[in-house]
Amino acid sequence: MLDIEPDLCQDNIIGALYSPNEYVVDPYLLALSNLYSAVGSGAVLLTDTEVIQTTWDAKNKFWTLNTKSSDGKNNCFTTLSVVNCAGNFSDDVNRMNGHLDDFQ
Ligand SMILES: Cc1cc2nc3c(=O)[nH]c(=O)nc-3n(C[C@H](O)[C@H](O)[C@H](O)COP(=O)(O)OP(=O)(O)OC[C@H]3O[C@@H](n4cnc5c(N)ncnc54)[C@H](O)[C@@H]3O)c2cc1C
Repeated sequence: MLDIEPDLCQDNIIGALYSPNEYVVDPYLLALSNLYSAVGSGAVLLTDTEVIQTTWDAKNKFWTLNTKSSDGKNNCFTTLSVVNCAGNFSDDVNRMNGHLDDFQ
């Protein structure tokens, strides 16, 4: 292990596991890094804001998202594309436009 990581601190270390086909990431830091990068590129982060309705305009090919924030404010956004990253609730978000019940 020290051959490939010669700067590893050896204090109180009795062994190490080397698994060349696995990668470990810090999921919290990964998400924040992506967020900082997006905000740095001009994205706007809205926290405590729930997507309550999505509508696809097939004719003009754009999405409308209606949101509600925890202070009761409603907002409406239009966009050409949407990334649904609502985790365990992504199927609920997917059904908001009235179809795609086969979401997996
Ligand atoms: C107890 C537990 C321990 C875990 N431990 C680990 C671990 O140690 N290491 C690891 O790698 N993984 C771990 N996981 C798995 C990891 O947490 C998930 O795989 C990861 O968080 C999924 O990320 P995601 O961004 O897809 O979804 P999520 O992190 O679930 O994010 C989805 C987000 O969408 C939001 N959302 C939902 N519906 C809406 C809506 N209508 N409008 C707006 N926002 C909405 C939710 O509030 C949430 O913030 C653990 C999971 C659990 C439950």
